[in-house]
Formats: sequence, C-alpha cells, structure tokens
Amino acid sequence: MLTDYHLHLRPDELNATVATYFTPANVERYREVAEERGIAELGVSEHVHRFRQALEVWRHPFWRENAVDDLDEYCRFVREETDLKLGIEMDFVPGAEDRTANLLEARDFDYVVGSVHFLRDEAVDMEEYGVWDPARPDRGAEQIWRSYFRTLGEAARSGLFDILAHPDLVKVWGPERPQPEGDLRRYYELAIEGIAESGIAVEVSTAGLRKRAGEIYPAPAFLEMCLETGAPVALSSDAHRPQEVGAEYEQALELLERLGVGELCVFERRARRLEPIGAGVR
Ligand SMILES: [Zn+2]
Ligand SMILES: [Zn+2]
Repeated sequence: MLTDYHLHLRPDELNATVATYFTPANVERYREVAEERGIAELGVSEHVHRFRQALEVWRHPFWRENAVDDLDEYCRFVREETDLKLGIEMDFVPGAEDRTANLLEARDFDYVVGSVHFLRDEAVDMEEYGVWDPARPDRGAEQIWRSYFRTLGEAARSGLFDILAHPDLVKVWGPERPQPEGDLRRYYELAIEGIAESGIAVEVSTAGLRKRAGEIYPAPAFLEMCLETGAPVALSSDAHRPQEVGAEYEQALELLERLGVGELCVFERRARRLEPIGAGVR
C-alpha cells in the first residue's frame, strides 16, 4: 500500500483561504490524482503556523503573520467532511516542548509530522528571516549544516513527533547555497543518535525533486544510516496542490527498493503499523 501523508490542501500564500481550499470538492481533487497513481492512504498535515493556536507555542513574527485560521475547525473539517487521515506539520521549537505537547495532545491527530524549518529564530528554507548570510563568517554552510542536523536530532529525541519531515531540508537551495564539501555523513551523524533512540519514522519525501536541490529528502547516504538504526519509512510528496500528490514516486520507490525497504508506515490515532509497499505506482 502506498501512502501520502505529508499533504497540504493549499499553497503557502496567505490568500489561500480556508473557505476556498478546505472543501470536500478540493479534497476530491487530491483523491482523484492519488487514485490515478495508485495511492490508497492519504493524510493531510497543514502547517501549524496557519492556525491561531500555534501562537500558544511560539510567537515568531512569521507565525504571527500566518496564524489566522482555527485549528479545531481544521480538525473538525478533516474528520467530518473528508476520508483523509488527520495530521499536522508541527515545527520543533526548542524550549517549547511542553507547550507543543499540550497543543498536540488536545487533539486526536492520526500522526504528527515534525519539522525543522528554523534554527532559533532564523529560517532554513525561506529568504524571509533566513539563516543564510554570506556576510557573516559564522554563517557558512558548515555552521548552518551542523546546527541544522543537531536540531534535527533533538527534534527526533523530543518524542513529540511520529514522522521526521524532509530530513535534510537544509539542502533545499541546491547550488545557490552550496552544501559543505566532502562526505556529508559527518553532519548526518549529528542527528542519527536522536533518530535511533526515539524510533521515529523517517520521511522519504519527493518534494526535494521539485526544489533547487533536485534530490529526494533524505539523501541516499542519510537514509541508509537511518535504516541501519532500524527507522521505519513514511512516504510523502509534501504536495501543496492536487497535481503534486504522489509526484515522482517512481524515483522514491526505486530508492526504497534499492535499499531493501519493503514496508511503509501507516498511522491511526498516533499508533503506527507497517504495511507492505506491494505493487507500487501506476
Ligand atoms: Zn515542511
Ligand atoms: Zn509541508
């Protein structure tokens, strides 16, 4: 069985409103593409920062701009008006673990996708509030990668999340912000202990193929290290529009097959089981 658990029902722009996108008709568009591609199991994981309740966890200016909608209305819509699994994409905010747990535990999510988009107050994957600054000597790729993977390991170890999202997101910019030289396993190493100890599922995401990185998250060498610790895999596209559901899964499945992965995680009310991949994409 194929899954796509990291789905957004709308683009990231603020003018993509609930009224337009959180509708059964829009969900049907996602379902149709999924069906064409042989993906049976779909779940939605909207960005927490689009909801007012996120400000109970963190008051970053980017979140304050975005926190417009009601989280409980989103949960109600997904549960009552769709057949999608109910997830959320939650940032790891160091120091806010208790507040994060409170927000998550108050709702009956099927799974929580945990993401590292920020290193302290600075964004890894956005220009706005961006961490990348060539003018600052302490902001080279080396430092940013080290900080990113350390934080990723802490995110896993926090135990707050079921799935570790786009595990090497820091490469998102591709050649525009070159990765450090040499064998990158010295960075992956910084996260691997947290991944091993937590038993968190590792996301294999085709979103990286649509970005300047031009590569699946995580890189094969990192995925191999995760698999060696026994980490199970959650497969997703991080679609923000219907056409992106299951996008380029052929490449992801080829990678999984090459590394000997025959099962994917399926979640229900935050319990995990493994299902055989089976025949693959159409
Ligand atoms: Zn993300
Ligand atoms: Zn996402």
